[in-house]
Amino acid sequence: MKNYNQSIDAYKEAVDLMPGGVNSPVRAFKSVGMDPIFMESGKGSKITDIDGNEYIDYVLSWGPLILGHADERVVSKLQEVIEKGTSFGAPTLLENKLAKLVIDRVPSIEVVRMVNSGTEATMSALRLARGYTGKDLILKFEGSYHGHGDSLLIKAGSGVATLGLPDSPGVPKSIAQNTITVAYNDQEGVRSAFEKYGDNIAAVIAEPVCGNMGVVPPVNDFLPFLRQITEQHGSLLVFDEVMTGFRVDYHCAQGYYGVTPDLTCLGKVIGGGLPVGAYGGKREIMEQVAPQGPIYQAGTLSGNPLAMTAGFETLNALTGFSYEEINKQVDRLIEGYQTAAKEFNIPLQINRAGSMVGVFFAEEPVTNFATASQSNLDYFKQYYRAMAEEGVFLPPSQFEGLFLSTAHTEEDIDNTIEAARKAFSKITK
Ligand code: PMP
Repeated sequence: MKNYNQSIDAYKEAVDLMPGGVNSPVRAFKSVGMDPIFMESGKGSKITDIDGNEYIDYVLSWGPLILGHADERVVSKLQEVIEKGTSFGAPTLLENKLAKLVIDRVPSIEVVRMVNSGTEATMSALRLARGYTGKDLILKFEGSYHGHGDSLLIKAGSGVATLGLPDSPGVPKSIAQNTITVAYNDQEGVRSAFEKYGDNIAAVIAEPVCGNMGVVPPVNDFLPFLRQITEQHGSLLVFDEVMTGFRVDYHCAQGYYGVTPDLTCLGKVIGGGLPVGAYGGKREIMEQVAPQGPIYQAGTLSGNPLAMTAGFETLNALTGFSYEEINKQVDRLIEGYQTAAKEFNIPLQINRAGSMVGVFFAEEPVTNFATASQSNLDYFKQYYRAMAEEGVFLPPSQFEGLFLSTAHTEEDIDNTIEAARKAFSKITK
Protein backbone atom coordinates (compact mmCIF):
# COMPACT_ATOMS: atom_id res chain seq x y z
CA MET A 1 0.00 0.00 0.00
CA LYS A 2 1.21 3.49 -0.82
CA ASN A 3 2.01 5.76 2.06
CA TYR A 4 0.06 9.05 2.00
CA ASN A 5 1.05 10.30 5.48
CA GLN A 6 2.36 13.72 4.40
CA SER A 7 -0.73 14.34 2.27
CA ILE A 8 -2.99 13.34 5.14
CA ASP A 9 -1.24 15.83 7.46
CA ALA A 10 -1.28 18.59 4.82
CA TYR A 11 -4.99 18.07 4.26
CA LYS A 12 -5.71 18.23 8.01
CA GLU A 13 -4.03 21.63 8.04
CA ALA A 14 -5.74 22.79 4.82
CA VAL A 15 -9.33 22.04 5.87
CA ASP A 16 -9.10 24.79 8.47
CA LEU A 17 -7.69 27.24 5.96
CA MET A 18 -9.76 26.81 2.79
CA PRO A 19 -13.32 25.62 2.06
CA GLY A 20 -13.01 21.83 1.87
CA GLY A 21 -9.24 22.28 2.15
CA VAL A 22 -8.88 23.15 -1.54
CA ASN A 23 -8.90 26.10 -3.92
CA SER A 24 -11.02 24.31 -6.52
CA PRO A 25 -13.67 21.69 -5.70
CA VAL A 26 -12.55 18.99 -8.14
CA ARG A 27 -9.30 18.66 -6.21
CA ALA A 28 -11.14 17.31 -3.17
CA PHE A 29 -11.39 13.66 -4.38
CA LYS A 30 -14.78 13.44 -2.64
CA SER A 31 -16.52 11.24 -5.21
CA VAL A 32 -13.78 8.60 -5.00
CA GLY A 33 -13.81 8.59 -1.19
CA MET A 34 -10.20 9.67 -0.79
CA ASP A 35 -8.46 12.64 0.75
CA PRO A 36 -6.62 14.94 -1.68
CA ILE A 37 -3.13 13.92 -2.72
CA PHE A 38 -0.81 16.93 -2.38
CA MET A 39 1.66 17.27 -5.24
CA GLU A 40 5.27 18.36 -5.06
CA SER A 41 6.66 18.30 -8.61
CA GLY A 42 6.22 17.09 -12.16
CA LYS A 43 8.51 16.20 -15.07
CA GLY A 44 7.31 15.02 -18.47
CA SER A 45 4.47 12.51 -18.06
CA LYS A 46 5.16 11.98 -14.34
CA ILE A 47 3.96 13.75 -11.23
CA THR A 48 5.28 13.22 -7.69
CA ASP A 49 3.35 13.74 -4.46
CA ILE A 50 4.72 15.09 -1.17
CA ASP A 51 5.16 11.53 0.16
CA GLY A 52 7.45 10.79 -2.78
CA ASN A 53 4.97 8.59 -4.68
CA GLU A 54 5.33 8.91 -8.46
CA TYR A 55 2.42 8.62 -10.89
CA ILE A 56 1.90 8.65 -14.63
CA ASP A 57 -0.21 11.77 -14.91
CA TYR A 58 -3.41 11.87 -16.99
CA VAL A 59 -4.78 15.00 -15.29
CA LEU A 60 -2.06 17.31 -16.61
CA SER A 61 -3.40 20.19 -14.52
CA TRP A 62 -6.86 19.46 -16.01
CA GLY A 63 -5.65 19.83 -19.56
CA PRO A 64 -3.15 22.67 -19.99
CA LEU A 65 0.07 20.63 -19.95
CA ILE A 66 -0.02 19.19 -23.47
CA LEU A 67 3.81 19.08 -23.48
CA GLY A 68 3.88 17.37 -20.08
CA HIS A 69 5.28 18.88 -16.88
CA ALA A 70 8.17 21.37 -16.80
CA ASP A 71 8.96 21.21 -20.50
CA GLU A 72 12.49 22.60 -21.02
CA ARG A 73 11.45 24.98 -23.81
CA VAL A 74 8.76 26.56 -21.63
CA VAL A 75 10.77 26.63 -18.40
CA SER A 76 13.90 28.18 -19.89
CA LYS A 77 11.93 31.01 -21.59
CA LEU A 78 10.03 31.65 -18.35
CA GLN A 79 13.33 31.96 -16.50
CA GLU A 80 14.54 34.47 -19.06
CA VAL A 81 11.34 36.55 -18.92
CA ILE A 82 10.94 36.57 -15.13
CA GLU A 83 14.29 38.33 -14.77
CA LYS A 84 12.80 41.34 -16.55
CA GLY A 85 9.87 41.76 -14.17
CA THR A 86 6.57 40.01 -13.62
CA SER A 87 3.92 42.53 -14.66
CA PHE A 88 3.83 46.04 -16.15
CA GLY A 89 0.20 47.09 -16.55
CA ALA A 90 1.16 48.31 -20.01
CA PRO A 91 1.30 46.44 -23.32
CA THR A 92 4.23 44.15 -24.12
CA LEU A 93 5.45 42.53 -27.33
CA LEU A 94 4.70 39.14 -25.79
CA GLU A 95 0.96 39.86 -26.08
CA ASN A 96 1.29 40.58 -29.81
CA LYS A 97 3.27 37.40 -30.26
CA LEU A 98 0.67 35.12 -28.67
CA ALA A 99 -2.25 36.98 -30.26
CA LYS A 100 -0.73 36.56 -33.75
CA LEU A 101 -0.22 32.86 -33.19
CA VAL A 102 -3.79 32.38 -31.93
CA ILE A 103 -5.30 34.34 -34.85
CA ASP A 104 -3.20 32.34 -37.26
CA ARG A 105 -4.24 28.98 -35.83
CA VAL A 106 -7.92 29.36 -34.83
CA PRO A 107 -10.22 29.61 -37.88
CA SER A 108 -12.89 31.82 -36.23
CA ILE A 109 -10.54 34.31 -34.55
CA GLU A 110 -9.71 37.56 -36.34
CA VAL A 111 -9.27 39.58 -33.15
CA VAL A 112 -8.57 38.23 -29.67
CA ARG A 113 -8.67 39.52 -26.07
CA MET A 114 -6.56 37.80 -23.41
CA VAL A 115 -8.00 37.20 -19.94
CA ASN A 116 -6.87 35.12 -16.95
CA SER A 117 -9.10 32.04 -16.93
CA GLY A 118 -11.65 30.06 -18.88
CA THR A 119 -14.39 31.44 -16.65
CA GLU A 120 -13.49 35.00 -17.56
CA ALA A 121 -13.42 34.07 -21.24
CA THR A 122 -16.94 32.61 -21.27
CA MET A 123 -18.44 35.35 -19.07
CA SER A 124 -16.96 38.03 -21.32
CA ALA A 125 -17.98 36.28 -24.54
CA LEU A 126 -21.58 36.06 -23.35
CA ARG A 127 -21.67 39.73 -22.36
CA LEU A 128 -20.35 40.53 -25.82
CA ALA A 129 -22.94 38.26 -27.48
CA ARG A 130 -25.72 39.97 -25.56
CA GLY A 131 -24.39 43.46 -26.18
CA TYR A 132 -23.83 42.78 -29.88
CA THR A 133 -27.22 41.15 -30.58
CA GLY A 134 -29.29 43.18 -28.12
CA LYS A 135 -30.86 39.90 -26.94
CA ASP A 136 -30.86 38.41 -23.44
CA LEU A 137 -31.19 34.62 -23.55
CA ILE A 138 -28.39 32.08 -23.63
CA LEU A 139 -28.82 28.46 -24.68
CA LYS A 140 -26.43 25.96 -23.09
CA PHE A 141 -26.30 22.17 -22.85
CA GLU A 142 -26.98 19.99 -19.82
CA GLY A 143 -23.77 18.66 -18.31
CA SER A 144 -21.59 21.23 -20.06
CA TYR A 145 -19.37 23.32 -17.84
CA HIS A 146 -18.36 26.79 -18.94
CA GLY A 147 -16.78 28.07 -15.73
CA HIS A 148 -18.60 29.47 -12.71
CA GLY A 149 -20.22 32.60 -14.12
CA ASP A 150 -23.77 33.04 -12.82
CA SER A 151 -25.64 32.49 -16.06
CA LEU A 152 -23.64 29.35 -16.80
CA LEU A 153 -24.05 27.49 -13.51
CA ILE A 154 -27.34 25.99 -14.66
CA LYS A 155 -27.43 22.20 -15.13
CA ALA A 156 -23.65 22.35 -15.31
CA GLY A 157 -21.12 19.52 -15.51
CA SER A 158 -17.62 19.02 -14.07
CA GLY A 159 -17.25 19.56 -10.30
CA VAL A 160 -20.85 20.73 -9.89
CA ALA A 161 -22.11 17.47 -11.45
CA THR A 162 -19.62 15.42 -9.42
CA LEU A 163 -20.83 17.05 -6.20
CA GLY A 164 -24.50 16.99 -7.26
CA LEU A 165 -24.84 20.80 -7.27
CA PRO A 166 -25.81 21.50 -10.88
CA ASP A 167 -27.87 24.60 -10.00
CA SER A 168 -25.76 26.48 -7.48
CA PRO A 169 -27.37 28.51 -4.68
CA GLY A 170 -26.38 32.15 -4.99
CA VAL A 171 -27.42 32.51 -8.61
CA PRO A 172 -30.43 34.87 -8.61
CA LYS A 173 -33.60 33.54 -10.28
CA SER A 174 -33.67 36.60 -12.48
CA ILE A 175 -30.33 35.53 -13.95
CA ALA A 176 -31.08 31.80 -14.15
CA GLN A 177 -34.26 32.63 -16.10
CA ASN A 178 -32.12 33.87 -18.95
CA THR A 179 -30.45 30.51 -19.49
CA ILE A 180 -32.19 27.78 -21.50
CA THR A 181 -30.80 24.26 -21.24
CA VAL A 182 -31.13 21.44 -23.73
CA ALA A 183 -29.59 17.94 -23.83
CA TYR A 184 -26.30 17.76 -25.78
CA ASN A 185 -26.64 16.28 -29.28
CA ASP A 186 -30.41 16.87 -29.16
CA GLN A 187 -31.28 18.69 -32.39
CA GLU A 188 -35.01 18.45 -31.76
CA GLY A 189 -34.58 20.09 -28.33
CA VAL A 190 -32.59 22.96 -29.83
CA ARG A 191 -35.14 23.40 -32.61
CA SER A 192 -38.06 23.65 -30.19
CA ALA A 193 -36.14 26.10 -27.96
CA PHE A 194 -35.64 28.31 -31.01
CA GLU A 195 -39.32 27.98 -31.95
CA LYS A 196 -40.28 29.16 -28.51
CA TYR A 197 -37.63 31.79 -27.72
CA GLY A 198 -35.83 32.26 -31.06
CA ASP A 199 -36.22 36.02 -31.27
CA ASN A 200 -34.48 36.59 -27.97
CA ILE A 201 -31.58 34.07 -28.00
CA ALA A 202 -28.32 36.02 -27.99
CA ALA A 203 -26.10 32.96 -28.22
CA VAL A 204 -25.80 29.21 -28.15
CA ILE A 205 -22.72 28.30 -26.14
CA ALA A 206 -21.39 24.80 -26.72
CA GLU A 207 -18.32 22.76 -26.00
CA PRO A 208 -17.61 21.43 -29.51
CA VAL A 209 -16.62 18.23 -27.70
CA CYS A 210 -18.04 18.02 -24.19
CA GLY A 211 -15.35 17.34 -21.65
CA ASN A 212 -17.22 18.02 -18.45
CA MET A 213 -19.59 15.07 -18.31
CA GLY A 214 -16.72 12.82 -19.21
CA VAL A 215 -15.84 13.14 -22.89
CA VAL A 216 -18.83 13.28 -25.24
CA PRO A 217 -18.20 14.16 -28.88
CA PRO A 218 -20.87 15.67 -31.13
CA VAL A 219 -22.86 13.14 -33.20
CA ASN A 220 -24.99 13.31 -36.36
CA ASP A 221 -23.67 16.66 -37.55
CA PHE A 222 -24.68 18.40 -34.34
CA LEU A 223 -22.18 21.24 -34.82
CA PRO A 224 -23.16 22.10 -38.45
CA PHE A 225 -26.76 22.02 -37.22
CA LEU A 226 -25.94 24.55 -34.47
CA ARG A 227 -24.15 26.73 -37.01
CA GLN A 228 -27.16 26.73 -39.28
CA ILE A 229 -29.89 27.34 -36.71
CA THR A 230 -28.04 30.19 -34.98
CA GLU A 231 -27.48 31.86 -38.35
CA GLN A 232 -31.15 31.52 -39.25
CA HIS A 233 -32.21 33.28 -36.05
CA GLY A 234 -29.56 35.98 -35.81
CA SER A 235 -28.01 34.40 -32.70
CA LEU A 236 -24.29 33.98 -32.21
CA LEU A 237 -22.65 30.58 -32.01
CA VAL A 238 -20.04 30.54 -29.24
CA PHE A 239 -17.68 27.60 -29.03
CA ASP A 240 -16.24 27.09 -25.58
CA GLU A 241 -12.89 25.62 -26.58
CA VAL A 242 -11.34 26.12 -23.14
CA MET A 243 -10.70 22.38 -22.99
CA THR A 244 -10.66 21.43 -26.69
CA GLY A 245 -8.63 24.40 -27.94
CA PHE A 246 -5.19 23.28 -29.23
CA ARG A 247 -5.90 19.92 -27.59
CA VAL A 248 -8.19 18.13 -30.03
CA ASP A 249 -6.31 19.44 -33.05
CA TYR A 250 -3.72 21.99 -34.19
CA HIS A 251 -6.63 24.16 -35.37
CA CYS A 252 -8.79 23.35 -32.30
CA ALA A 253 -12.07 21.41 -32.45
CA GLN A 254 -13.51 23.93 -34.91
CA GLY A 255 -10.75 23.08 -37.37
CA TYR A 256 -11.19 19.37 -36.76
CA TYR A 257 -14.96 19.44 -37.35
CA GLY A 258 -14.90 22.17 -39.99
CA VAL A 259 -17.46 24.38 -38.23
CA THR A 260 -16.60 28.04 -37.60
CA PRO A 261 -18.39 29.77 -34.72
CA ASP A 262 -18.82 33.54 -34.31
CA LEU A 263 -16.91 33.64 -31.02
CA THR A 264 -14.44 31.24 -29.43
CA CYS A 265 -13.40 30.93 -25.79
CA LEU A 266 -9.97 29.55 -24.95
CA GLY A 267 -8.17 28.53 -21.77
CA LYS A 268 -5.98 25.69 -20.48
CA VAL A 269 -3.46 24.87 -23.30
CA ILE A 270 -3.28 28.53 -24.41
CA GLY A 271 -1.58 29.27 -21.08
CA GLY A 272 0.70 26.22 -21.00
CA GLY A 273 0.10 25.85 -17.23
CA LEU A 274 -0.05 29.54 -16.31
CA PRO A 275 -3.36 31.40 -15.85
CA VAL A 276 -4.57 32.44 -19.30
CA GLY A 277 -7.93 32.56 -21.03
CA ALA A 278 -8.96 34.32 -24.20
CA TYR A 279 -11.98 35.10 -26.28
CA GLY A 280 -12.03 36.12 -29.88
CA GLY A 281 -13.91 36.02 -33.13
CA LYS A 282 -15.07 38.08 -36.05
CA ARG A 283 -13.59 41.55 -36.18
CA GLU A 284 -16.98 43.17 -36.51
CA ILE A 285 -18.09 41.62 -33.21
CA MET A 286 -14.83 42.04 -31.29
CA GLU A 287 -14.76 45.75 -32.23
CA GLN A 288 -17.62 46.19 -29.76
CA VAL A 289 -15.25 45.46 -26.84
CA ALA A 290 -13.83 48.43 -24.87
CA PRO A 291 -11.90 50.60 -25.51
CA GLN A 292 -12.79 50.24 -29.20
CA GLY A 293 -16.47 49.69 -28.44
CA PRO A 294 -18.86 50.16 -25.53
CA ILE A 295 -18.91 46.63 -24.02
CA TYR A 296 -16.69 46.69 -20.97
CA GLN A 297 -14.20 44.03 -19.95
CA ALA A 298 -10.78 44.54 -18.33
CA GLY A 299 -8.04 42.86 -16.26
CA THR A 300 -5.12 44.07 -14.11
CA LEU A 301 -3.03 41.01 -14.96
CA SER A 302 -4.51 40.20 -18.40
CA GLY A 303 -1.76 39.49 -20.92
CA ASN A 304 0.72 38.94 -18.11
CA PRO A 305 4.26 38.48 -19.50
CA LEU A 306 4.90 35.13 -17.81
CA ALA A 307 1.51 33.77 -18.81
CA MET A 308 1.97 34.94 -22.43
CA THR A 309 5.40 33.31 -22.52
CA ALA A 310 4.22 29.93 -21.24
CA GLY A 311 1.34 30.02 -23.71
CA PHE A 312 3.43 31.05 -26.69
CA GLU A 313 6.22 28.56 -26.05
CA THR A 314 3.71 25.74 -25.57
CA LEU A 315 1.77 26.46 -28.74
CA ASN A 316 4.95 27.13 -30.68
CA ALA A 317 6.29 23.69 -29.77
CA LEU A 318 3.21 21.97 -31.20
CA THR A 319 3.06 20.91 -34.84
CA GLY A 320 0.57 18.81 -36.80
CA PHE A 321 2.98 15.94 -36.23
CA SER A 322 2.77 16.36 -32.41
CA TYR A 323 -0.96 15.68 -32.58
CA GLU A 324 -0.43 12.59 -34.77
CA GLU A 325 2.08 11.27 -32.25
CA ILE A 326 -0.17 11.84 -29.21
CA ASN A 327 -3.09 10.29 -31.07
CA LYS A 328 -1.08 7.11 -31.65
CA GLN A 329 -0.59 6.76 -27.90
CA VAL A 330 -4.29 7.38 -27.36
CA ASP A 331 -5.14 4.60 -29.86
CA ARG A 332 -2.84 2.24 -27.98
CA LEU A 333 -4.35 3.16 -24.62
CA ILE A 334 -7.93 2.69 -25.79
CA GLU A 335 -7.19 -0.66 -27.42
CA GLY A 336 -5.51 -1.87 -24.22
CA TYR A 337 -8.42 -0.74 -22.06
CA GLN A 338 -10.96 -2.41 -24.31
CA THR A 339 -9.11 -5.72 -24.29
CA ALA A 340 -8.72 -5.59 -20.50
CA ALA A 341 -12.40 -4.73 -19.98
CA LYS A 342 -13.45 -7.70 -22.14
CA GLU A 343 -11.12 -10.02 -20.26
CA PHE A 344 -12.75 -9.16 -16.92
CA ASN A 345 -16.25 -8.59 -18.25
CA ILE A 346 -16.37 -4.93 -17.21
CA PRO A 347 -18.94 -2.77 -19.03
CA LEU A 348 -16.89 0.02 -20.58
CA GLN A 349 -17.67 2.77 -23.08
CA ILE A 350 -14.77 4.84 -24.32
CA ASN A 351 -15.31 8.20 -26.05
CA ARG A 352 -12.48 10.11 -27.55
CA ALA A 353 -11.63 13.28 -29.43
CA GLY A 354 -7.92 13.68 -30.17
CA SER A 355 -6.14 13.32 -26.83
CA MET A 356 -9.27 13.80 -24.69
CA VAL A 357 -10.53 10.43 -23.51
CA GLY A 358 -13.70 9.53 -21.61
CA VAL A 359 -13.77 6.13 -19.90
CA PHE A 360 -17.31 5.30 -18.70
CA PHE A 361 -18.34 2.24 -16.71
CA ALA A 362 -21.54 2.02 -18.73
CA GLU A 363 -23.40 -0.56 -20.81
CA GLU A 364 -24.74 1.83 -23.47
CA PRO A 365 -23.02 4.44 -25.64
CA VAL A 366 -22.68 7.83 -23.92
CA THR A 367 -23.95 10.74 -26.02
CA ASN A 368 -25.25 13.20 -23.41
CA PHE A 369 -25.46 13.85 -19.67
CA ALA A 370 -28.36 11.44 -19.11
CA THR A 371 -26.44 8.53 -20.65
CA ALA A 372 -23.22 9.57 -18.86
CA SER A 373 -25.18 9.48 -15.60
CA GLN A 374 -26.01 5.80 -16.16
CA SER A 375 -22.35 4.98 -15.40
CA ASN A 376 -21.57 2.75 -12.46
CA LEU A 377 -20.01 5.17 -9.98
CA ASP A 378 -19.09 2.37 -7.59
CA TYR A 379 -16.99 0.66 -10.28
CA PHE A 380 -15.39 4.01 -11.05
CA LYS A 381 -14.47 4.53 -7.42
CA GLN A 382 -12.89 1.09 -7.11
CA TYR A 383 -11.03 1.54 -10.39
CA TYR A 384 -9.84 5.01 -9.41
CA ARG A 385 -8.37 3.89 -6.10
CA ALA A 386 -6.70 0.84 -7.60
CA MET A 387 -5.13 2.97 -10.35
CA ALA A 388 -3.73 5.45 -7.82
CA GLU A 389 -2.27 2.51 -5.92
CA GLU A 390 -0.65 1.28 -9.17
CA GLY A 391 0.89 4.71 -9.81
CA VAL A 392 -1.58 6.20 -12.30
CA PHE A 393 -3.04 9.62 -11.52
CA LEU A 394 -6.48 10.14 -13.08
CA PRO A 395 -9.11 12.87 -12.75
CA PRO A 396 -11.02 11.86 -9.60
CA SER A 397 -14.50 11.85 -11.15
CA GLN A 398 -16.47 9.79 -13.65
CA PHE A 399 -17.56 13.10 -15.17
CA GLU A 400 -14.12 14.25 -16.26
CA GLY A 401 -11.98 13.22 -19.20
CA LEU A 402 -8.34 12.23 -19.11
CA PHE A 403 -5.60 13.86 -21.16
CA LEU A 404 -2.36 12.75 -22.76
CA SER A 405 0.71 14.81 -23.58
CA THR A 406 3.58 14.67 -26.07
CA ALA A 407 5.68 13.43 -23.12
CA HIS A 408 3.69 10.19 -22.62
CA THR A 409 5.72 7.25 -23.92
CA GLU A 410 4.72 3.82 -25.16
CA GLU A 411 6.09 2.46 -21.90
CA ASP A 412 3.78 4.79 -19.92
CA ILE A 413 0.82 3.56 -21.92
CA ASP A 414 1.71 -0.11 -21.49
CA ASN A 415 2.19 0.39 -17.74
CA THR A 416 -1.17 2.15 -17.58
CA ILE A 417 -2.91 -0.69 -19.42
CA GLU A 418 -1.32 -3.21 -17.07
CA ALA A 419 -2.54 -1.12 -14.10
CA ALA A 420 -6.05 -1.03 -15.60
CA ARG A 421 -5.99 -4.85 -16.04
CA LYS A 422 -5.16 -5.21 -12.36
CA ALA A 423 -7.78 -2.63 -11.37
CA PHE A 424 -10.50 -4.33 -13.47
CA SER A 425 -9.57 -7.75 -12.07
CA LYS A 426 -10.21 -6.48 -8.53
CA ILE A 427 -13.56 -4.74 -9.12
CA THR A 428 -16.18 -6.38 -6.91
CA LYS A 429 -19.52 -6.47 -8.64
N1 PMP B 1 -15.04 25.95 -20.08
C1 PMP B 1 -14.68 24.67 -20.14
C2 PMP B 1 -15.11 23.85 -21.32
C3 PMP B 1 -13.91 24.11 -19.12
O1 PMP B 1 -13.57 22.82 -19.19
C4 PMP B 1 -13.51 24.92 -18.03
C5 PMP B 1 -12.68 24.37 -16.88
N2 PMP B 1 -12.56 23.05 -16.76
C6 PMP B 1 -13.91 26.25 -18.02
C7 PMP B 1 -14.67 26.75 -19.06
C8 PMP B 1 -13.51 27.17 -16.90
O2 PMP B 1 -12.16 27.45 -16.99
P1 PMP B 1 -11.35 27.96 -15.69
O3 PMP B 1 -11.37 26.83 -14.71
O4 PMP B 1 -10.00 28.30 -16.22
O5 PMP B 1 -12.07 29.16 -15.19
